[in-house]
Amino acid sequence: MIKIARKEDCTGCHGCYNVCPKKCIDMKFDEEGFLYPSVDSDKCVECGLCEKVCPIVHTVEVENEPIAVGCYNKDEKIRMESSSGGIFTLISELVIQSGGVVFGAEFDENYNVRHSYVDNMEDLHRFRGSKYVQSTIGSSYYETKQFLEQGRQVLFSGTPCQIAGLKRYLQKDYDNLICQDIVCHGVPSTYVWEHYKKFIANGKNIVGIKFRDKSTGWKTYSLQIDFDDGSSYKDIGNENSYIKGFVKDFYLRPSCYECRYKTLHRESDITLADFWGIEANVPELDDNKGTSLILVNSDKGKDYFEKIKGKIIFRIVDIDKSVTFNPSAYISCTYTRNKKNFYKKYEVNDFNLLIEKLMKENSLKKIVTFSKRIKGKIKKLYKDK
Ligand SMILES: Cc1cc2nc3c(=O)[nH]c(=O)nc-3n(C[C@H](O)[C@H](O)[C@H](O)COP(=O)(O)OP(=O)(O)OC[C@H]3O[C@@H](n4cnc5c(N)ncnc54)[C@H](O)[C@@H]3O)c2cc1C
Repeated sequence: MIKIARKEDCTGCHGCYNVCPKKCIDMKFDEEGFLYPSVDSDKCVECGLCEKVCPIVHTVEVENEPIAVGCYNKDEKIRMESSSGGIFTLISELVIQSGGVVFGAEFDENYNVRHSYVDNMEDLHRFRGSKYVQSTIGSSYYETKQFLEQGRQVLFSGTPCQIAGLKRYLQKDYDNLICQDIVCHGVPSTYVWEHYKKFIANGKNIVGIKFRDKSTGWKTYSLQIDFDDGSSYKDIGNENSYIKGFVKDFYLRPSCYECRYKTLHRESDITLADFWGIEANVPELDDNKGTSLILVNSDKGKDYFEKIKGKIIFRIVDIDKSVTFNPSAYISCTYTRNKKNFYKKYEVNDFNLLIEKLMKENSLKKIVTFSKRIKGKIKKLYKDK
């Protein structure tokens, strides 16, 4: 029976929930707003399947030689609707054209985020664009297996931990499965997102959300929330409180602070990222409309890359140099005491003011630590003399 001793050891992938033959595992929110398995021990027959499919219990070391590519979709409309270079849509289109199914993260009717699937071009837009909240997998692994067994092509897109969860759940390789992950900073809490939406909406009904609206440019993207009275809230990404708290790691899932999937050797076939630092790598691909850095990780990934090549502008780049400005590709986010402080206060404080206060404390702490280190060095210098 699966038991979570440390929250850091559960990514919330839902593998155990999907595999349980007795349906005795429920996924329940903890006080921070992240889902964890909860087993009904009366119904559990101790078959051990939940442990067998756990990607944290069974970690996999990948040995491969990924190829890094800077690129963007030639279709300007799709590119502008996407967070980076619009590569996700190109891979998805191939799968759908072959009669296949695409799994990805979409907003539900309350603008929370969940995994779902589509099998036609018209619905693909639901998955386009990054949603900076942990996506709930639900029964997606089970559904993926059903489609694979029917012989249909399946693209499963998600965070690296969701791909690891799917692979352990399936327990075998399928030729008709292609996995695409993202470089993931970490995933924010559903409760914090719900709270923030209410704070911004202030009684109005939300009818649309874009985390990465590019009308202010790809690099200075905006978070845009539309309301049913025709008004909108729009804030530049690095000036927006929710994005600031996300980037400063105030409300990420505990497992993100010890992420096992921060590596350039990944289980997915293709990895998608923003090409941060493009100026220093391939300035000729930088028009501030969004450029992707993609890692082609496997032969299947290469095959798909060959098929989309005609529809993208691209340059092969040096992998180590390409991720210099994208530490999320290979380093976990940092746990700070601000996380604890944030959770103690966020429900009773003005969200914007709280984030500003914690950000100031953050930089103050950095200054104090820095001056302590300098003082230590000076003292040592005098001692040595
Ligand atoms: C939580 C999160 C953190 C990220 N952190 C970074 C980062 O630090 N550095 C970086 O370079 N890139 C990061 N990205 C990825 C980046 O923002 C783009 O999503 C990616 O480059 C794909 O862009 P695209 O233009 O090809 O396609 P898009 O159409 O923009 O991509 C959509 C893809 O993202 C998936 N997706 C969207 N939201 C979620 C979610 N909540 N959970 C799982 N999958 C989701 C969709 O299923 C689809 O596969 C992050 C994305 C998310 C969701």
